Amino acid sequence: MDKLIFIKYGELSTKKDNRKMFVKMLLKNIKNKLDGLNYKIDYTTSRMYIETTNDDLEELVKRLKQVFGIHSIVICERVNTNKEEIENKIIEVVKKLKFETFKIETKRSYKGFPMTSLEFSKHIGGIVLKNIPCKVDVHNPDITINIEIRSEGTFIYTNEVNGIGGYPVGVQGKGMLMLSGGIDSPVAGYLALKRGVDLECLYFESPPHTSIETKNKVIKLASIINNYSGNIKVHVVPFTKLQEEIYKNVPDTYIITIMRRMMYRIAERLSKKRKCKVIINGESIGQVASQTLTSMVVINNVTNMPVIRPVACLDKLEIIDLSLKIGTYETSILPFEDCCTIFVPRHPVINPELDKCILYENLFDYETLIDECINNIETIKNLEINNYETLL
Ligand code: ATP
Ligand code: MG
Repeated sequence: MDKLIFIKYGELSTKKDNRKMFVKMLLKNIKNKLDGLNYKIDYTTSRMYIETTNDDLEELVKRLKQVFGIHSIVICERVNTNKEEIENKIIEVVKKLKFETFKIETKRSYKGFPMTSLEFSKHIGGIVLKNIPCKVDVHNPDITINIEIRSEGTFIYTNEVNGIGGYPVGVQGKGMLMLSGGIDSPVAGYLALKRGVDLECLYFESPPHTSIETKNKVIKLASIINNYSGNIKVHVVPFTKLQEEIYKNVPDTYIITIMRRMMYRIAERLSKKRKCKVIINGESIGQVASQTLTSMVVINNVTNMPVIRPVACLDKLEIIDLSLKIGTYETSILPFEDCCTIFVPRHPVINPELDKCILYENLFDYETLIDECINNIETIKNLEINNYETLL
């Protein structure tokens, strides 16, 4: 193993009591993500060290950039905490680099080292100037040579790659994501993962009104966000009968409100069964009639389970930006029908009344239909992007 990387934890390091558990979860997630690569990993409470080969370095860094809980990834050189060894290594490092101006940043956490950080930066700066034709520029240097003097060794690096931050996925337990083929819900899922909430997904399908392509699209979206988790499953709920009953019994303007109340009821039942603590969805305030605050209150009324709406306060352009960043946009905009876009009334109610919802729901036996939905769920595990790519 000829390459060494260390990982900074970021926000995680502000957690006092939970820190051990967080670090363990991060370690588990990193191991899952690096499966198949050649590496050795070790950790302390403040960082992780990964040794790898030259060949696997690039792929390893690429995968680490999809692991929540990592603030930054640093490819470094390590020597013993010994003045001469550090000097020699720095000369070797700078000789390989192209630059005109530089600065030295020393951090001395090991107080047994005989020089202060500032003294050592000046000392090493002098050595660099003697060996290479260049200048010091402390304000806007071409490169910064970082030297971290610690008891376990001294680490030298010039480059730090940003990680995606957040908390390790799973530290908060699981949430049930209502995942449609749209733009919003995959982004909502990504944001929940970022706060450490692992996901199971729930998709309502209405064949033959919705097609197999829509289902495959949803599975593909799930497999894209699964890059940030590794544990995601998709539960496909057969929604046709219940949706047709709503259509038959409920006045036009209330169809969507009632349909969404049914979705919430099913999401709650399945969440409890699958030990998910919360429901998560892609609702955004005011986006459509069913997402006015009044609609949200009336729809939310069927459950006591917290409903997390990570994109509630973002506008559509901000959500699109995120979907481009995480790689779901291209799939989300494929033009296949969703069960929310079929049977859409021309004038859905904007300010629904709870009494009316209850009245309309009592016109048919929805409990039995909900049982049927729950009993006939198809669960898809082992999401692999490539398996679904060809289906679209
Ligand atoms: P768009 O990006 O086009 O708005 P959307 O998925 O957000 O698509 P909405 O009609 O705004 O569609 O639905 C609001 C939320 O309800 C979705 O973000 C999703 O969480 C949930 N939802 C809608 N349809 C389904 C479905 N068929 N299966 C599961 N969840 C759904
Ligand atoms: Mg939406």
